[in-house]
Amino acid sequence: MSDSTSILEALLKALPDLRTQIYFKSSLTALSHAMEDQVLAGVNSTLVIASFQRERFYRQEAHRYLRISERADQVYVLAAPETDFSNRSNHYETVAFEPTDALAQEWHLVVVGPRYAACLICKERQTTSEDSGGQSAADQSRRFEGIWTFDRHTVCKAAELLLDAILKYRPELTNKIIQAKAGLSPQTRTGFNNLDPEPFAERLVTYLQAGQYKLIKAYRSIAAQERKERLVNSITATIRRSLDPDEIFKIAAQELGQALGVCRCLIYRCKETDTHVTIQHEYLGTTVESLVNQTWNLQDNPLFQAVVQRQEAVFVDNTQEDPWILNDGLPVSPPQLHDGSNGSPPAQRWQIQSWLMVPVIHQSRLLGMVELHNCRVTLHGWSEAELELVEAIATQVGVALIQAEAYANLEDLNQQLEALDRTRSNLIAITGHELRTPLSTIQVCLESLSSEPDMPAELSQVMLQSALSDAERMRKLIQDFLTLSELESGRVKWHLEPLPFKECVDLALSSIRARQIHNNQLPNITSQIPSNLPMVQTDGEWLVEVLSKLLDNACKFTDPDGQVIIQAREAGQQMLEVIVADTGRGIEPNRLETVFDRFYQEEGALRRTTGGTGLGLAICRQIVTGLGGRIWAESGGKDQGSQFHFTIPTVQTETRRPPTSTARKAKAKASRNRT
Ligand code: ADP
Repeated sequence: MSDSTSILEALLKALPDLRTQIYFKSSLTALSHAMEDQVLAGVNSTLVIASFQRERFYRQEAHRYLRISERADQVYVLAAPETDFSNRSNHYETVAFEPTDALAQEWHLVVVGPRYAACLICKERQTTSEDSGGQSAADQSRRFEGIWTFDRHTVCKAAELLLDAILKYRPELTNKIIQAKAGLSPQTRTGFNNLDPEPFAERLVTYLQAGQYKLIKAYRSIAAQERKERLVNSITATIRRSLDPDEIFKIAAQELGQALGVCRCLIYRCKETDTHVTIQHEYLGTTVESLVNQTWNLQDNPLFQAVVQRQEAVFVDNTQEDPWILNDGLPVSPPQLHDGSNGSPPAQRWQIQSWLMVPVIHQSRLLGMVELHNCRVTLHGWSEAELELVEAIATQVGVALIQAEAYANLEDLNQQLEALDRTRSNLIAITGHELRTPLSTIQVCLESLSSEPDMPAELSQVMLQSALSDAERMRKLIQDFLTLSELESGRVKWHLEPLPFKECVDLALSSIRARQIHNNQLPNITSQIPSNLPMVQTDGEWLVEVLSKLLDNACKFTDPDGQVIIQAREAGQQMLEVIVADTGRGIEPNRLETVFDRFYQEEGALRRTTGGTGLGLAICRQIVTGLGGRIWAESGGKDQGSQFHFTIPTVQTETRRPPTSTARKAKAKASRNRT
C-alpha cells in the first residue's frame, strides 16, 4: 500500500499562498529539536506527528519520543522500516510506510496544542556530486525545501494531510484520527499566544552556537591542512630543484627546522646496519651546540634501532622524565646512549629534551633519517600534525634522493655510452686503416704476380713475402679483436693449475726469438728468473699470451741497441711479481694508465709506424685480472724506458711439477701465433 503523493505538494496545493524555503539538514535538526522541546517544556500539546525518512533517523530520537508521549495526547511517528520498525500502538502510534512512498523523501514535524502550533513540512532535494565531499560532509550538505511555520491554519492543514496518510496505513485507528482531527481548530492564528517562547529560542541558540563551534573547528583543521600542504609543496619544490643529495639534505633540514621552529633539525644518510654517521647537515634554531662534524652513534641508540625495527617514526616527548619509554608504551633499553664525545648519553650531552626520528624510506629501503630536537625549552609534545608534516617531507626527501641517484646512474651510463661510441669510432678507424691497407697491398702483389708471369723470380719472391706479411698483420688484428671480445664477455673459462713460471717465460721468449730470426733488429732480451720461485697457480695458455704481448711491446718500442729484461720475484701474500722492463722510448707519466685503454696508441691509430692494434695491453689487463692479479706500468717519462709489472698468484707447495698438458698446449699455441 504505497502513496506517492507528497505531503509538501499537497499542502502547497491546498494553500497556494505558501512560499517554500531551503533548509540545510542541520537547520531542520535544530528546528525539530526546538519544537520537540517546546512540547517537553510542559506545553499541553494535543497532537504530535513526526515523519522520519528512515527507521535509522527515528532510532536516534526514540527516547525523546517516549518522553514526548507522556506530554501529548496523541503522538504518531512515521518511518520507512529498516529492521524491526512496524505498525504498532504502544506508548505512541508507529506507522511503517513503504520505502517507495513519497514520505520517504520528506521530513515532517507537526505540533498542535491549544495555545501553540508549529509545523515543519519539507522535502529533500537531490544533492549534486559537487555538494558532497566525503561521507560526513555529504550528510551536512543535505538540503530540504519546504515550510516551517507557527501559522495555526497551515499547521492544522498539514496535520490533516498527515493524518490522512496515517489512516491509509493504519485504518484501525479511524476513530482516534477522527478525534485528532476534531481537535484541530484553525481559529487561533498566532503561534505562541501568551506562551513563553524562551525554551524554543534557547534551544535554537544552543544549536546555532554548537554549529558555529563545529564550523570554527572545521576551518581550523582546513587552515592547518592548507598550511601543511603549502609548506610541503614549497619544501618539495626547493628540494626537487636539486639533483645533488648534499644540497637536498641541506635545504630540507633548513626549511623543515625553520618551519617547525625546533632547536635542531638533522638530516643524514644511513643504512639499517650503520653503526654511526658523521653529521653534515643541520638546522640550528637557538643557541644550542651544533652537531656538525660530530660522530653520531646509531648502533647503541634505542631510538634509531626502534625506527629501523618498525620502519616508522619514533619519538620521545620528555627524555628526562621518561627517557626511553617510546610513544607506544613499549619499554626499550635504559639510557645507555653514548655518542663517543664525552661518555654521557646524547640526550643529556646535547640537551635534547624532546626527540623525534623519522626515517627516509624508499621501497622498504632505509635511505636516511630526519631528526628533530627540542632542547632546554618548555616541554614540547610532538603533535600528530608535526609528525605528519615531517613524514611528508621525509617521503619527499626519499623521492628526491632516488631521483638524484637515478640521475647519477644516468650520468654514468651516458659516460659509458660515450666511451662505447668512442670505441666504436676507433674500431671503425682502425678497421679501415688496419684491414684496408694490408688488403690493398695483398691485392696489388697478387695482381702483379698474376698479370706478369715473366716477373723475375727475385721480385715475385718479394711480392709474395709482402702479401704474406700483410696477411699476417690482418690475422693478428682479427685475432686480437676476437680475444678481447671473448675476455670482455666473461665467457672465458680459466683452467688454473700449478705451473713453473720459468717455463711460461721460456715459451714466450721462444716465440719472440723466432721473430728475431726473420728480423735481427730486435734489442737484446735477457731473462732473470730465479730458480727457487714458487710455482704459479694459473692458466698457462693465457699467461704466455700476456708475457708475449709485453715482450713484443718492449721490443717494438726499444731501439735494436737497447735492452729488454724480464724479471720475477715473490711479492708476498702468495703472489709473484713479474717485470718486463726496457730501455726504449718510455711513457709520459699521465699516460701510464691510459695505455691500458682499448685502441690507445701514442701516435694515434692512423699514424702508427710500429704496427700493432692498440688492443694488446687491454687484453693483458683482462687476462691478468681474470687470473687474480693486477697489472700496471711505470716509466721515468720520454726516452727513459718502461717497466710493465703484473702480479700472479702462486701455489703453497714445494712440489715442482713438469709442464702439464695446459703448458704444452700453451707452447703449441705460442709457436702457432708467433712464427
Ligand atoms: P699496440 O698494438 O699499439 O702495441 P698495446 O695495447 O700493446 O697496443 O699498447 C698501447 C700503447 O702503449 C702503444 O701503442 C704504445 O704507445 C704504448 N706502449 C706499450 N708498451 C710500451 C713500451 N714498452 N714502451 C713504450 N710505450 C709502450
